Amino acid sequence: MPVELPGTVRPQGRLGFHPSKSGGSVKVLLSEDELAAGIARLASEISERYRELPLTVVGVLTGSIVLLADLIRMIEVPMRLGVLQARSYRGTTTHPGKLEVNPDLMPEVRNRHVLLVDDILDTGRTLSQLVIQMHDMGAMSVRTAVLLRKRGRQQAPLEPDFVGFEIPNEFVVGYGLDYNDYYRNLPYVAAMESADLEAAKT
Ligand code: 5GP
Ligand code: MG
Repeated sequence: MPVELPGTVRPQGRLGFHPSKSGGSVKVLLSEDELAAGIARLASEISERYRELPLTVVGVLTGSIVLLADLIRMIEVPMRLGVLQARSYRGTTTHPGKLEVNPDLMPEVRNRHVLLVDDILDTGRTLSQLVIQMHDMGAMSVRTAVLLRKRGRQQAPLEPDFVGFEIPNEFVVGYGLDYNDYYRNLPYVAAMESADLEAAKT
């Protein structure tokens, strides 16, 4: 079961460093310790589910890259790893646009049980389309795992099988999630204020 965060946000200090020019403060939603605990729980749920099954984990680039690295090292069943690229946000927009999928890096998934791994479930459009695509590619089963699920945003009818954390409807960065391709390297998840978003455009 996803962990409900207590309250909405826990204000903390400034970023340890700031790759943009804004230098604005951020609200840390999930600390490194909280992330580590959530990912350990996800990995054990996943290991339990896929015991005895030929598992291929497919990470959705680029946002899932940090999660993937931490998650797969805690999965305790044999697995293959693949990636594909999907993007719906471009540059400095915080609203999804048309989904572009590049499956060139995908391994063969015929007769494999696929677990799609993405950073965040927002409208659900990305993962619901990718689930169809994996079935079309011959996967025996397709399940989904997300680190974060935004409350009250979902449009596509997709119930993720594994969820790390539910978060409020705010634009978040860090731990793989970007704004204008920055902030992916933050070791925690933070919500960006609109002033920060403006400042980070420059
Ligand atoms: P969906 O298709 O579910 O609307 O969106 C999924 C994708 O949108 C995610 O994989 C992620 O790349 C992007 N996205 C959605 N919400 C956020 C957010 O709050 N912050 C960031 N950085 N990306 C987001
Ligand atoms: Mg993404």
